[in-house]
Amino acid sequence: MAHDDAHTETDQLVFQNPVTRYPSIEPPKQDQPEPGLDADLEPKTDRGEFSYRGTGRLEGRRALITGADSGIGAAVAIAFAKEGADVALNYLPAEEEDAQWVKGVIEKAGRTAVLLPGDLTDRTVCENLADKAAEGLGGLDILVNNAGKQISQDSIEDITDEQFTDTFTVNIIAMFRITKAALKHMPAGSSIINTTSIQAYNPSPTLLDYASTKAAINNFTKGLAQQLAPKGIRVNAVAPGPFWTPLQVSDGQPKEKLPKFGKDTPLGRAGQPTELAPAYVFLASPESSYVVGETLNVNGGTPTP
Ligand code: NAD
Ligand code: MG
Repeated sequence: MAHDDAHTETDQLVFQNPVTRYPSIEPPKQDQPEPGLDADLEPKTDRGEFSYRGTGRLEGRRALITGADSGIGAAVAIAFAKEGADVALNYLPAEEEDAQWVKGVIEKAGRTAVLLPGDLTDRTVCENLADKAAEGLGGLDILVNNAGKQISQDSIEDITDEQFTDTFTVNIIAMFRITKAALKHMPAGSSIINTTSIQAYNPSPTLLDYASTKAAINNFTKGLAQQLAPKGIRVNAVAPGPFWTPLQVSDGQPKEKLPKFGKDTPLGRAGQPTELAPAYVFLASPESSYVVGETLNVNGGTPTP
């Protein structure tokens, strides 16, 4: 999105038709090795560099976000910084280019970005992540568990044991390990936000492993929320519908589905990552103090349970 266009859009955001806020994209068939890069994605996404307006809702807060280099995590990192937070970003070493871009946007907003590359299939990486974030930021009071692995397969026979296990490791086991290790740093008032998916309720036949991790994340969130509420730590989840991100082109979707991605939602288009950011800001902010164990659906209008 060009710089000038984006500034115009910020002004117009005061009143916008959600159907036409962004064009209904028809992504060309494309393939990237896993993990995909925003730098190579076609068309480009809006991660809020110019379009997200901060209003000081996370002033002085310190956040760790996994999968923060691209897509939804990048949009959340940028919004948090524009709301006044310093942010530690975890991502895979192969995603350094995307991470550097996000770091630049955060620094332009006058905030600190701490880069923590590391593979979350490695237990030690998970267990040390919050320590490193707290050290780099001078504390920790927001954790966004957002990293995710999604590889579509037509048949259960095509899912290798390794794929099934890795998907569970990245999506839910790492969430357990990171959260457990983060708690010792998080004072009352802190917020934990997990990224689940509409797939938790409405599983695609091609995403057996992925969709079942997302159901597990919803359940984990609601259980942990009750456990931590008396300690003053709120746990919630965000459930995106179809958002245009690198996940979709690195085998997240069957290739033939890409041109129609998101068109079957009531809004008739895929979401742009920055359209998810306000949900995370809301759940992180002290204003949502009575919202606990909730899954906030941001999906363009598809009904959910
Ligand atoms: P994305 O590819 O931009 O982000 C996913 C991130 O996960 C990657 O950037 C990568 O850093 C991280 N990751 C994957 N494997 C990892 C590993 N082994 N170690 C460390 N990090 C690893 O795509 P996205 O769509 O922004 O995905 C973010 C989250 O949103 C995921 O949990 C995904 O399941 C969820 N989600 C996305 C959609 C959508 O339509 N895009 C819909 C519902 C839920
Ligand atoms: Mg990425």
